Amino acid sequence: MSFVDDIMANVKAKNAAEPEFHQAVEEVVESLELVLERRPEYRKAKIVERVIEPERVIMFRVPWVDDNGDIHVNRGFRIEMNSAIGPYKGGLRFHPSVNLGILKFLAFEQVFKNSLTTLPLGGGKGGSDFDPKGKSDNEVMRFCQSFMSELCRHIGPDTDVPAGDIGVGGREIGFLFGQYKRLRNEFTGVLTGKALNWGGSLIRPEATGYGAVYFAAEMLATRSENLEGKTCLVSGSGNVAQYTCEKLLDLGGKPVTLSDSGGYIYDEEGIDRDKLGFVMDLKNVRRGRIKEYAEKYSSAAYMEIDPNAGHNAIWDHNADCAFPSATQNEINAKDAANLLENGVYVVSEGANIPTVIEGVNLFIDAGILYGPGKAANAGGVATSGLEMSQNSLRMSWTREEVDAKLHGIMKSIHTAAKETAEEYGSPGNYVNGANIAGFIKIADSMMDQGIV
Ligand code: NDP
Repeated sequence: MSFVDDIMANVKAKNAAEPEFHQAVEEVVESLELVLERRPEYRKAKIVERVIEPERVIMFRVPWVDDNGDIHVNRGFRIEMNSAIGPYKGGLRFHPSVNLGILKFLAFEQVFKNSLTTLPLGGGKGGSDFDPKGKSDNEVMRFCQSFMSELCRHIGPDTDVPAGDIGVGGREIGFLFGQYKRLRNEFTGVLTGKALNWGGSLIRPEATGYGAVYFAAEMLATRSENLEGKTCLVSGSGNVAQYTCEKLLDLGGKPVTLSDSGGYIYDEEGIDRDKLGFVMDLKNVRRGRIKEYAEKYSSAAYMEIDPNAGHNAIWDHNADCAFPSATQNEINAKDAANLLENGVYVVSEGANIPTVIEGVNLFIDAGILYGPGKAANAGGVATSGLEMSQNSLRMSWTREEVDAKLHGIMKSIHTAAKETAEEYGSPGNYVNGANIAGFIKIADSMMDQGIV
């Protein structure tokens, strides 16, 4: 049995019914075979076996009362995956699909991603199967307060610093921070993604989307190209999708699609700044559906998601670039084939593992510029790291300073992934490059710290 088969058999046996976790582990360990051949001391120290086992998993009851006085019970989680290079760091996701396996896959990805950022950040992830959609602000507040009442025992500015993810934006971070402060009686940088008035960093809301576009620009630069005039498919319409569109517009790109879980819009004239402003108001203030975009702009068509189609029609349009920015496995093998047939040759993943492994292999075999999420979307957590630094210094940097640091970090991540891929015999393969570069820093740190 090969090393990968052996590891995967164990992972599947020990973590049954966690397919997304299996997928994330498989993608990484496949890249690591070469490293382990060159560095047998990692095998001996069982670094891979240790890295796939969370340092700690916290699971708890979250009871809350709705506006009618009815009681609900959700499940809360925090996965403290790896602290070899810094305090646990990673977002909280509130979505009905959340379960242990999904959060373990996200926490596992986060470890390597955070290592790539060049900052001292360990990896974690958490959340709940609570669905903020359709809830009043007061209901969201009561849920967040109940969630934090337990979580606050396990986190802290030097221990574990959560942030946002799907379903957790500025509003939720505010409620969570308020409750932490109340219970612990300390004003401290325990969460990132805070509002500017109380410790947030400029550019943090923009960072993941901006970073995914900077990463695409870096990949294009290796072919002496840029984003000017490029037609771009963007999925999602939340935080990452919105700021991906904004940075694409800054750099001369033309985003033509956005989506939510109901369907997607295709605007052949392009989503310009005014239209993006409409989307931001629709999604962040009115909390409406993307369908309304097509009702407002006649240049756009709305297509409902067809769960029986076997593919996602958003990926079936002629374009140059794709920025999947909604959720995991939103590009299946058929979608990946459609993207390639439609001329897409740049894929920069804002979402975490949005492409199934067969799709990733199609991209790599086709030799397109494919930036996997753990490299391309690392700008979000990197800027969270910058928010932590500003909190510790009790200073705030200007928009230009933070953006320049973010841009520099994305360039470093790109260079590390590119050069590591070359060093390990797979030039142009950013998957191998990112996995190996992220892993080596963690592995060396774990070796230094003994068997813990
Ligand atoms: P938001 O909640 O702001 O937006 C998520 C968007 O994706 C919404 O438009 C949502 O539609 C859509 N979506 C979510 N789940 C599904 C689904 N199952 N099927 C179809 N559409 C779906 O989240 P973010 O923008 O923050 O996160 C998007 C992705 O980016 C996630 O994979 C996240 O892990 C990743 N990411 C986020 C970072 C951040 O800083 N926020 C950092 C790094 C990665 P609807 O409203 O209908 O649910």
